[in-house]
Amino acid sequence: MESSTVSYWNLTGAKSPYPRLENNLETDILIIGSGITGITCAYCLTQKGLRPTVIEAGGLCDGTTGNTTGKITIQHDIIYSKIMEKHGRDYAWQYCTSQSEALEFVKQTVKNESINCQLYDNTAYVYASMERDLELIKKEFEAAKELGIDCEFIDKPEFPPQNFGMLAFKNQAVFHSVRYVDSLAKIAASRGAEIYTNTKAYKISNGETITVHCDNNIEIKTKHLVMATQYPIYDGPNLFYTRLFPKRTYGVAVKAKRDWPEGSYVNASGRTRSIRTHVEKGQKVLIVVGDGHLTGRSDVNMDEHLTNLIEFSERIAGVEQIYAKWSAQDYDTPDQIPYIGRISDKSNIYVASGFRKWGLSNGTLSGILISELIKDGNCRYEELYSRKRADYSSSLGKTIKEVGLSVYELIKSKLEGTESILDLKQGEGRVISFEGKKAGIYRDYDDSVIILDITCTHMGTELNFNSAEKTWDCPAHGGRYNIEGRLLEGPPKHNLKVLYKGQFSDLHTTN
Ligand SMILES: Cc1cc2nc3c(=O)[nH]c(=O)nc-3n(C[C@H](O)[C@H](O)[C@H](O)COP(=O)(O)OP(=O)(O)OC[C@H]3O[C@@H](n4cnc5c(N)ncnc54)[C@H](O)[C@@H]3O)c2cc1C
Repeated sequence: MESSTVSYWNLTGAKSPYPRLENNLETDILIIGSGITGITCAYCLTQKGLRPTVIEAGGLCDGTTGNTTGKITIQHDIIYSKIMEKHGRDYAWQYCTSQSEALEFVKQTVKNESINCQLYDNTAYVYASMERDLELIKKEFEAAKELGIDCEFIDKPEFPPQNFGMLAFKNQAVFHSVRYVDSLAKIAASRGAEIYTNTKAYKISNGETITVHCDNNIEIKTKHLVMATQYPIYDGPNLFYTRLFPKRTYGVAVKAKRDWPEGSYVNASGRTRSIRTHVEKGQKVLIVVGDGHLTGRSDVNMDEHLTNLIEFSERIAGVEQIYAKWSAQDYDTPDQIPYIGRISDKSNIYVASGFRKWGLSNGTLSGILISELIKDGNCRYEELYSRKRADYSSSLGKTIKEVGLSVYELIKSKLEGTESILDLKQGEGRVISFEGKKAGIYRDYDDSVIILDITCTHMGTELNFNSAEKTWDCPAHGGRYNIEGRLLEGPPKHNLKVLYKGQFSDLHTTN
């Protein structure tokens, strides 16, 4: 097999062709995206007797699902101790049971539908590649035991090298993601799902009905819209751009010189090294993934990341031949829990994103949960995964510190070209340009800042800052809003849209 920058899964997994959408369409349920999220959702809906339509910009499974490591597991490096610490035991338990359900769904579906996707049961390990990470591993072990996970701590194992101790989760799995999704799509199509490829959605109009505008001047009207696109293409009230952080990660598949122990491995912190074994026609293939970084913020080029992974493969098993090299993207959230569910309380638009490189189980789970939401109006685990969860309104300043600098870069780009805000005093409000449009910024006495869309929600008049009362006032019809955009009085019916919330210190250097 030739070395290339196409993933091993895309090189070896055949994908069925589907037509391009050529005419306008009306459907009850439209799913955008044909990765594991969209296709699982389509499959689950057909199991419930519904007939969804799927559109995909490229070919089937052309996104991250075709560029993964292929671990399907509830062992998401260090997660349970973190959720317990941040949200309490109940959220950690919900995360554990829901991810277990996704894992079980894949195992059962493969069995019931006789899908040939090289699904193997295995043990998933998270290991301390630095001595200081042992504490993380031990904390995770305690949390996992408390949640009833079948697990074990292993002291100073020999593999992978430079391993100070690891935590093993039994009865996990690996598979060939492209073969799995391709089979699931075929089954869904045979049960009434319509799948169109090479059909890109450009814009969503969310009125009485939802209209999706696609390339080729095609419009699709739908009652329910599932955005299985990784990054949601419609934002609603969510400010997703402040809550989803893109990370680029690299992968290699090699024929090794020496044998290596079975299992899936990932280190607890530092430069990620995620390892698994795949078996193709009786031959073992070593898959190594890692070297991730915030997208657009790497000091070195892609080749260097791939070289690092090849060198690591050389250390652990020796490299006889490189089958494939690739890179792909996924999104993190501030509290490491994805967003799955309605984009707002009564909306029929659904989001599934922020999988933190654990989207084979999270995407499966999203498909299951969103199909329940569409069919029954509610779903299990809604509180944990939806925008209702406690952390959702965490301030941007806080998320910047937790996740890195990508939002900082984003806000900077949105503010670029505006007048300086360096001299904005505490207690002062000012009209600025944000994303090329007029907006109102207010700096509070605790140094928090809030940027509002200062278009009056009544008749669209631009508001002025009232420095005496610290309000945004409409010179046309007297609508007034407080500094958080809440309607105080006057004819408008709605609050102002919040464009940004955070700390002044996070913002002022951006200007
Ligand atoms: C290197 C790497 C390794 C990983 N390894 C693992 C692992 O071992 N285990 C695990 O659980 N997770 C892993 N993940 C994460 C997991 O692969 C992803 O989270 C998951 O595949 C996301 O699936 P998805 O269906 O939501 O998105 P995708 O697979 O990206 O599918 C989204 C689809 O939507 C389409 N689309 C986007 N916008 C539009 C539009 N406007 N119109 C039409 N179509 C559109 C795209 O073309 C794409 O096909 C890994 C991630 C990376 C980056």
